[in-house]
Amino acid sequence: MPTFRAPQWSVRGRILAAILAVTAFSMAGAGFTAHLVQRDRVLQQIDDRLMSRVESVRLVVSGVQATDVTDTAPEAPALSPHATTRDALEAVFSRVLPERNESSLGVIDGKAALVSAVDVDVHLEDDPALVARIVDEVSDGSVRLGTSVGPLGKLRYIATPVTVEGDPQQGIYITALDLDAELQDSNSASVTYAVVATGGLVLVGLVGWLVAGRLLRPLRDLREAASRISATDLTERIPVHGRDDLSGLTSTVNTMLDRIDGAVTAQRQLLNDVRHELKTPITIVHGQLEVADPEDPSDVRQAIAIAIDELDRMSALVDEIEALADSQQSRLGRVPVDIADFTDQVFAKASTDSGHDWNLAESASVVAAIDPSRITQAWLQLADNAAKYSPPGSPISVGSRVVDDSPTEQGLVEFWVADQGPGIPKVMEGRIFERFGRVEASRGIRGSGLGLPIVAAIAKAHGGRVTLSSSPVGSRFGIEIPLVQEVGE
Ligand code: ADP
Repeated sequence: MPTFRAPQWSVRGRILAAILAVTAFSMAGAGFTAHLVQRDRVLQQIDDRLMSRVESVRLVVSGVQATDVTDTAPEAPALSPHATTRDALEAVFSRVLPERNESSLGVIDGKAALVSAVDVDVHLEDDPALVARIVDEVSDGSVRLGTSVGPLGKLRYIATPVTVEGDPQQGIYITALDLDAELQDSNSASVTYAVVATGGLVLVGLVGWLVAGRLLRPLRDLREAASRISATDLTERIPVHGRDDLSGLTSTVNTMLDRIDGAVTAQRQLLNDVRHELKTPITIVHGQLEVADPEDPSDVRQAIAIAIDELDRMSALVDEIEALADSQQSRLGRVPVDIADFTDQVFAKASTDSGHDWNLAESASVVAAIDPSRITQAWLQLADNAAKYSPPGSPISVGSRVVDDSPTEQGLVEFWVADQGPGIPKVMEGRIFERFGRVEASRGIRGSGLGLPIVAAIAKAHGGRVTLSSSPVGSRFGIEIPLVQEVGE
């Protein structure tokens, strides 16, 4: 069944989208708020200007200051020095001059009668419907403030009734401001802001894209390298740039690759070694069975005996490989152990071999944190080797001691075995600690070559090492373990 896959967004794209969304939202919010505040202030200023016109008109008409000028203010008293309403309106027109974006109209008995001598942009008399509406609005004698949208555009106006006592004519002084023209400055400021903000947004996008790309580069390198690296080629490492946490991740992955590489190489090596070691017994068994005469019972018996012997060797080899893997991988069960008692126990086990003259030379009076079963296994392996490779009946010494002259502050405890065997040639001293490393193919003595690597692995797991001093008259092997468990082990 085909599955729906959502479109894949890169991390870089998502980071950028989030940054741009937040920035755009903030910029738009700030711009819109500033625009509204500015527009509100301009509208307030327009109303203030129109209100001041009412006062001016009243002063001219009557010399009495109007104090109650609102949308629905009752008519102010008119004690006019002028003879007629027309005279009063003319006086207003001559004294109150329209300013920028302002126009005025004098209405007498509902008809447009006087216009300003100054050139104005908007001629209110051109919109009779507006004039009629205003005349209607102020018919109750109140000052009217209003807004109109019509052929003359969007206007904010104020109409002041003008009457002179004794003259029946009803006059109105209308003054209007072109709202669009008045708001133009604030609108163009907002447009400029929008252009600058858009430019800023593009800049944020560009910088964000570059910075996100640069910061996420280690992740891209990591992904590409991970897709190239396979089980057959674990040698590639990812270049580390910078010192931030992503670069730290790259270093960690490189270290992990080192470990995997090491483990895979070690496994491959082990397989090669095992294949090589198993070849000999398999060839021997195969050859024996092939040449054995099935009719000859003694021949068959001999072939079976050899086959069983070789199979025993193979089985011992498999057991030792398992023991080696165990000592390299499994965790230690460290407990505080009284080394003097422990030495007695191991010596008792080792000296059961009656073919040698066993001797407990010394015993350390100390308590150490060790895995007793592992150390017993390693120590007995050394004792077993000493018994195997030294002449029958020769003395073998076993002992444990605290090494005071150790370079480490905490001191060491050493478990040692010394024999009077043939010793180990200098050139082979390193080799015998490697897997299947044996002197002169075992000098005729059976063994797998895995005993000492197991001892070395156990010592290493305890944070210690195996020491060897050898001469043609004997060898001394020691397992040195730090007395105090190191932090992190
Ligand atoms: P194995 O004993 O199965 O051969 P080991 O790893 O225990 O494997 O020992 C490796 C080799 O080191 C032995 O084959 C032997 O040649 C040499 N060796 C170990 N212990 C002694 C010893 N005490 N004296 C002389 N040679 C030794």
